[in-house]
Amino acid sequence: MNVPLLDLKPQFAQYKDRLMPELMQVIESQAFILGPKVEKMEKELADYIGVKYALGVSSGTDALLLALMGLGIGHGDEVITTPYTFFATAGSIHRVGARPVFVDIEPDTYNIDATKIEKAISRRTKAIMPVHLFGQCCDMDAINAIARRHGLKVIEDACQSIGAKYGDKQAGNLGDVGAFSFFPSKNLGCFGDGGLVTTNDEALYKRMKALRVHGGERQYYHAEVGMNGRLDAIQAVVVSAKLPLLAGWTEGRRRNADRYDHFFANNPKIQVPVRREGRYHIFNQYVIAVDRRDELKQHLTEKQIGCAIYYPLSLHQQECFSYLQYRQGDFPVAETAAKRTLALPIYPEIPAGGLEYVAQTINAFYR
Ligand SMILES: *Cc1c(COP(=O)(O)O)cnc(C)c1O
Repeated sequence: MNVPLLDLKPQFAQYKDRLMPELMQVIESQAFILGPKVEKMEKELADYIGVKYALGVSSGTDALLLALMGLGIGHGDEVITTPYTFFATAGSIHRVGARPVFVDIEPDTYNIDATKIEKAISRRTKAIMPVHLFGQCCDMDAINAIARRHGLKVIEDACQSIGAKYGDKQAGNLGDVGAFSFFPSKNLGCFGDGGLVTTNDEALYKRMKALRVHGGERQYYHAEVGMNGRLDAIQAVVVSAKLPLLAGWTEGRRRNADRYDHFFANNPKIQVPVRREGRYHIFNQYVIAVDRRDELKQHLTEKQIGCAIYYPLSLHQQECFSYLQYRQGDFPVAETAAKRTLALPIYPEIPAGGLEYVAQTINAFYR
């Protein structure tokens, strides 16, 4: 049996009929950049997430960049974030000229450890960028309380967490600005690169909207230097066609997570993902932590089971960030996670018997 880490083809079959006429309309119109289809998608996503404003952008990375630029963060500023995340989180901070300041993670959720944030704040700190990793929200009450106390902004990296909830509020509606990705492997992916920024702040929304198109509210007149962060209409119609199915897909992922939890319940060798009370985990990834992780990965690959390491090297140990002068051992929880974690297939359409095969293969490996 072959179980890939992710297969998007069975999803395409579910919305193809609704999408194709919309796609043809865009192609016939030959109007590809921004426009009414993008605005329609922005409105739908703002309603879904529960925020006042949403802006379609060219990627999740550019969503983070636009959020930082919109908040006026740049040279000489510091932004506190996690070292255990996709590269773009800290990459975006570096790219606006600010300095990423890392804080270690929780050993069970892998999210930033809010109890360690305050020690990392300096006179230069301007914002905290929590990452809702793998689909579960960070400890946002604690993070927002720290931000209020110190006058900091909160930028949510919600790229893996569309639809995740903290209490009754969704990711992207828990800080000053939220960043999402429509990269195909995210829970709501488009047909290429795409992303979204969300906010309830009208002035910030207007500034980011201008920055998305080179900083000009009026074409060819530039109040400040922005970027090309536009989304195209083809990606917008894909997102609109998939959005009505997202809640069902998320439930499918959560059911699969329950089944894995059940299969691994009696195996002390496997640390399953922890779900914090009051948070709705959307399982963009189902990540276990184990000894002999690399051996297990090799074994699963031989058994034709897809799996992946998110992430093999913490960001404070990346060559490009050597100038930050962190050392091995500075963030021991993140460094341990990088050695022990492995993501398993969790997509809702795993073929019948596939999940059992994955779980039994892993259990047998540790017997
Ligand atoms: C995917 C991802 C991004 C970047 O999104 P892209 O659309 O690939 O640019 C940023 N942060 C996290 C945590 C992500 O998972």
